[in-house]
Amino acid sequence: MGLSLLWVLRGWRRPDEVRVRATPTSLPGVELVTATVARIDVGSRAVHTSNGVLGYDALVIALGATLDEAAVPGLSKALQAGAAGEFYTLDGAMELHTKVDALNRGRIAVLVAGVPFKCPAAPFEAAFLMAAQLGDRFASGAVHIDTFTPDPLPMPVAGPEVGQALVAMLEDRGIGFHARKAVTAVDSAERTLHFGDGTTEPFDLLAVVPPHVPSAAARSAGLSESGWIPVDPQTLSTRVDGVWAIGDATVLTLPNGKPLPKAAVFAQSQAGVVAHGVARHLGYDVPERLFTGEGACYVETGDHQAAKGAGNFLCAPAPSVTLYPPSATFHEEKVAQESAWLDRWNTRTSAP
Ligand SMILES: Cc1cc2nc3c(=O)[nH]c(=O)nc-3n(C[C@H](O)[C@H](O)[C@H](O)COP(=O)(O)OP(=O)(O)OC[C@H]3O[C@@H](n4cnc5c(N)ncnc54)[C@H](O)[C@@H]3O)c2cc1C
Repeated sequence: MGLSLLWVLRGWRRPDEVRVRATPTSLPGVELVTATVARIDVGSRAVHTSNGVLGYDALVIALGATLDEAAVPGLSKALQAGAAGEFYTLDGAMELHTKVDALNRGRIAVLVAGVPFKCPAAPFEAAFLMAAQLGDRFASGAVHIDTFTPDPLPMPVAGPEVGQALVAMLEDRGIGFHARKAVTAVDSAERTLHFGDGTTEPFDLLAVVPPHVPSAAARSAGLSESGWIPVDPQTLSTRVDGVWAIGDATVLTLPNGKPLPKAAVFAQSQAGVVAHGVARHLGYDVPERLFTGEGACYVETGDHQAAKGAGNFLCAPAPSVTLYPPSATFHEEKVAQESAWLDRWNTRTSAP
């Protein structure tokens, strides 16, 4: 579960506390087939899996995004050599926690290695949380933290005010922010980042958001050239009748032409919308539901505090999002959100 990864990185959660798994118990009334999807054929309405071919009357594609370290030359080697760590997988978050613990002096570079990526706040939360984990080593200046992103501001889809407020929060904390930095290579021997603008930056530890690509299975559906699946912003239907897509696998274009951020809060509300769409497609008499674009995300700032960005991303002409300053209350809201997910998937035995 994405939001818990940051707390695994911080050392506040153990992996066994935050794993969620779909099981027959958590999905009463649903036949659960566990398999790897090899190919989707929307022409013949068939999903080819490691467990046979499944036909369908309605299909919802929710294959997420795949991490592709190989997309940046030298990045895989840096991860293997231990010069870099990532916090986008459970193992990665645990290992990076240990690396941060072992760092006594030097520079941590938090790098967004490509866009789009899941949870636009996550790299900056990681910077805040690593600063808190370092404690005196960060406060004394023995360890510095700098963030690098190809975007002009953090969370650019939320608008310049939100981005500038987040930059101010980072700088107040003593964390550097470097915009428009598109990485072209990582040199793990020299511990140097190379950027498209010709500059280089040294690091002692690289904390990377790996490049994201569409899953091969989603790409096989042939619903777009890029492999990210274009969807109707309100119904999440694709260009093929009877096929929907939700969550990170999609590209949902907002009125300002930018894509909706990849976040669980949206995947979850889209699931409700599509459940109604599918039921109607199958002839059931249920009301139509539309995706409203409303959502909130939390920005952990360390020390059990979080800021909160909330608003409506489907507003025209541009998303209307407010960043509320850090408080213990928002951190507690995020804890409650995590508990709700864990409760839903790990302990529920009846239909929602
Ligand atoms: C560090 C971090 C922090 C985050 N924090 C937040 C947050 O605070 N709030 C928030 O809203 N979101 C957050 N997110 C984002 C959130 O986790 C994702 O947006 C969300 O999980 C998307 O859901 P999804 O169902 O689209 O994709 P996923 O959750 O990735 O699910 C896709 C599933 O498809 C499976 N799959 C892929 N290919 C195949 C195949 N070929 N065959 C079978 N199965 C396959 C995958 O194994 C996976 O289980 C965070 C993410 C990260 C990494």
